[in-house]
Amino acid sequence: MKQNILEMEQYAIENNVPIIEKKSIAFIMKYIKSHEIKNILEIGSAIGYSAILMASSTQEAQVTTIERDDVRYMECLKNVKKCGMEKKINVVFQDALELNLSEDLKYDLIFIDAAKGQYTKFFEKYKHFLSPNGTIITDNIKFHGYVGESAKLDKGNLKSLVEKIESYVEFLKTNPEFDTKFYDIGDGLSVSTWKEKKN
Ligand code: SAH
Ligand code: MG
Repeated sequence: MKQNILEMEQYAIENNVPIIEKKSIAFIMKYIKSHEIKNILEIGSAIGYSAILMASSTQEAQVTTIERDDVRYMECLKNVKKCGMEKKINVVFQDALELNLSEDLKYDLIFIDAAKGQYTKFFEKYKHFLSPNGTIITDNIKFHGYVGESAKLDKGNLKSLVEKIESYVEFLKTNPEFDTKFYDIGDGLSVSTWKEKKN
């Protein structure tokens, strides 16, 4: 397991795969343990690095993870197998904005870590699958320190992406249904929970 994780970290560097920072995944693993989280939905598997670590947090943790890129999906499947986690991790090969999950599914944790420009869409779509005590965690909320600094960037893809993350932060801060805490850990994490418990 340890060796597999190291190999994934190496693969990520060599192939430019943006896997989560160590401090951030450590925070999430601790959160899974302390909140006795069982069912986890991840949007954006890449090669399975964060899915495997989340699934290994506790004996009960089960992960469904969604990836739309075929090369990464295959690599993710391979890594899940290598780690012997086929029973704990279900990898879905699809665009998360097109996928139709069965309506009765509920998750204790939804981890949003896919296309950064679409965070609000992911949040709005998947909040319906969040359990009453559930949490939505989003990664890369600082985006290399650019978030909050978009005015200083020249027009282009980076600027428009950063502006979208900024508008997601605003969406979270002003959300009538969710309370959100922002953590200056790794590339920035947000942790959102229902304001009022739903039944
Ligand atoms: N969670 C991973 C890193 C994910 S990188 C880890 O920390 O180990 C983001 C991934 O999201 C990329 O592999 C990209 O292909 C995928 N992605 C982006 N938009 C997506 C979408 N709409 N549906 C599914 N996957 C998406
Ligand atoms: Mg990330």
